This record gives sequence, structure tokens and C-alpha cells, in this order.
Amino acid sequence: MCEVETLIIGGGIAGLSLAAQIARHGETIVLEAESAPGYHASGRSVAIAHFGLGERVVRTLTALSLPDLAAPPGDERAPYAVKHPALHIARSEQAHELDALEEVHRAFGCDFARISGEEALTLLPVLRAGPEFCHEAIVDHGALKLDTDAMLQGHLKDLRMAGGNLLTGARVTAIERESGRWAVQSAAGPFRAKRLVNAAGAWADEIADLAGVRKIGIEPRRRTVISFGGPGGVDVSLWPFTKTVGAGFYILPEGNGRLLASPMDEHASTPCDAAPEELDIATIADRVQQATTLPIRRIAHSWAGLRSFAPDELPVIGYPQDTPNFFWFAGQGGYGFQTSPALARIGEALMLDSEWPRDMAAADVHPKLFAPERCQVRISE
Ligand SMILES: Cc1cc2nc3c(=O)[nH]c(=O)nc-3n(C[C@H](O)[C@H](O)[C@H](O)COP(=O)(O)OP(=O)(O)OC[C@H]3O[C@@H](n4cnc5c(N)ncnc54)[C@H](O)[C@@H]3O)c2cc1C
Repeated sequence: MCEVETLIIGGGIAGLSLAAQIARHGETIVLEAESAPGYHASGRSVAIAHFGLGERVVRTLTALSLPDLAAPPGDERAPYAVKHPALHIARSEQAHELDALEEVHRAFGCDFARISGEEALTLLPVLRAGPEFCHEAIVDHGALKLDTDAMLQGHLKDLRMAGGNLLTGARVTAIERESGRWAVQSAAGPFRAKRLVNAAGAWADEIADLAGVRKIGIEPRRRTVISFGGPGGVDVSLWPFTKTVGAGFYILPEGNGRLLASPMDEHASTPCDAAPEELDIATIADRVQQATTLPIRRIAHSWAGLRSFAPDELPVIGYPQDTPNFFWFAGQGGYGFQTSPALARIGEALMLDSEWPRDMAAADVHPKLFAPERCQVRISE
């Protein structure tokens, strides 16, 4: 039986970024069901940080995270990200939505410009000309392309340097409360912990159920991505991450002359090893070919991953009032990487009941926004 201070369930970006932050305060073990960290959502992201998703709180968390993504604190390790422009394209009838997005970019002091459809075409030359495809756009020069593998490995290194560890192939199968401690059965053996952290992504409600804790209503939603060859003889690596305002699609360079695209689908799913469905693959191929001059002759590969949302689409971080030492760290939605530095600091402050970070308070980001009760109450209504 292994006794630890903090046992974290889930070796994705959520579990590992929090583990790296708190391992300095007491022995910390991360249990991951799969044979490697980042097998589920965290291994399936398209790895961009931008201001085109979420509401005020998500965008503020993104802004508070960008400095750490561009230059991670600590040692001399390489940045987790490089600048890569984001182009938000709008049809003529979407001027209001573009106005709102412009306001967001201005509010966060982004290095951006509002440009015409013709100017957008110079950035993404395969865009079809015309207001029905792109009337106007916003180009954000400060968006980031993230190195998600480096992020996971960096956090793992910090965790180990602080004396903690990640155990893979360690699926948690039973959780009980025994003499003021959590008794956890896993494929890697039994553990006892003072504090249990639920960072199980799409499985977060299942873990709550196992522990006898009230669920949140975390909804996993499937998103599909395809990869295909760009036009021969053209360097696509500098093409911007290009996203329609509202429903539609996004497209971005993958590397090796290839492009990635997604229909930005959000199909409710059970927690599972998500796989792409034919209809979603056909939908994205069709949308790309409608809006651009790119022919998609062959799809090199495709994948799907589950983005997990609380009912109000904000992360759930904290101890429920009625369950001591069961800490929620879930509901990272479609922004789990780009907000991870801020979320890990929030997790540390709430878990250890330490001083609330001043930059969060100054940005009007408060603990109650993340409290588990806000969703648990709604579910019982
Ligand atoms: C297609 C796609 C594109 C995305 N693009 C971006 C992007 O550009 N930028 C961005 O910031 N975010 C993006 N995201 C979102 C981001 O990937 C997620 O927010 C993030 O990965 C969530 O991390 P997580 O650790 O909560 O979940 P996960 O990575 O799913 O980790 C949860 C872990 O818990 C483990 N687990 C579950 N049950 C158990 C158990 N019983 N015992 C032990 N372990 C268990 C699972 O095996 C899993 O590894 C994207 C997501 C998808 C799917």
C-alpha cells in the first residue's frame, strides 16, 4: 500500500500541469489509465492559443497564460510555443460578430488588425474571393502554436524533480473513504491519499461516481480533425490558423507540407477512445473545398478527441463543500492547453487554500467562478 499526500487521477495536461505545480508542497502521484500520458484529449489537440473561443473568463485565462506559454518559468527550457498568426474570417452578414471579436482583441492588448477580404487572401491565398466566403477578417499576430508534447514532458520533469511520479497503466477501479483518507484501487496497486484530485477529463463524472461524490454533468463532446496534402510546390507552413467566425471550419498547417482541418463539430459522446465518423470527415472535406480552392484528393489521416464541458462551459476547480479532500480539476473544454498555466495556478491556490493570485483578482477572475457547487446545484434543480 502506497501512502501519499495527493493522488491525481488523469495524466493529461490538466493532471500533469497541476501535479507539477503542487508536488513542491507534498508527495504527489499521478495515476493514468493508459500506457502513456496524453493519450486522450491532450494527445489530439491542434495546439493553438488564440482569442476566438470561449467567453470573457476563458479569454482572460488565455491572456494570463500566454506569457508562461511563450517563456515557461523555471529553468532554461525552450518555449512551449512559437508565434503563429490566427486569421478569423467573417462573411458580410457577420460584421457584428467580427466587431465583438475586434473588441476582445483590443481589450486584451493583442497585436492585431482588422483587414479586408482581399487582404485576408494574401495571407491564405487559397481562400475563395467574395463576401460569401470572407468579407472581412481579423488577423491576430500574437496567437501561438503550442508544442503540446513539450508541455506534457516539461510538467512531468517538474513533477519528478519535486519527488513525485506518474504511473501509467494505472486505471483506477475503486475509491473509498477510510479513516479520513481516500483508499484507491488501481491497476498499479492500492493507494491511500490525504487528497484525491479528479483530473480525468471526459471520465470526470465517472470518477466522482466511483468516489460517491455528486457529479457535475461534465459533457464530453467529440471533435474531428483531418490531415491532407497542401498544394504541391507551395510552402504552407506560414499560412495562418484560419477559423470562420461562428460555425464553419478551421484550417492550419500541420508540417511536412500538410494541412489540418476541422468542422468544429461538438457531438455529445460517452467517455471513450473517440474515433472520427465518416459523416464528419465528409463534412469537413466539403466545407474546405467550398471555401477554398484546395482540392482534397486524399485524406492522409483523421482523428477525433473529446472536449469536456461543464454545463456553463467553465472549468470546475475546487473542493465541493460536502466532500472533504476531493478536488475537482475538470471541464477544460476546447482550451485546456492555452489556459493551462493559469488553471494550474488557480488549482494550487484553491487546493492549498493559499493567497488568491493577484493578477487573477485584478482581472476579475474569482474562485466562485470555478466552484463545483455552481453546477451540482443546477443538476439537482
Ligand atoms: C480535436 C481537438 C482540438 C483541440 N485543440 C485545442 C487547441 O488548439 N488549444 C487548446 O488549448 N486546447 C485544445 N483542445 C482541448 C484540449 O485538448 C483539452 O482541453 C485538454 O486536453 C483536456 O485535458 P485533460 O487532462 O482534462 O483531459 P485528457 O487529456 O483526456 O486526460 C484525462 C486522462 O484521464 C485518464 N483517466 C480517465 N479515467 C481514468 C481512470 N479511471 N484511472 C486513471 N486514469 C483515468 C484518461 O486516460 C486521460 O488520459 C482540443 C481538443 C480536441 C479534441
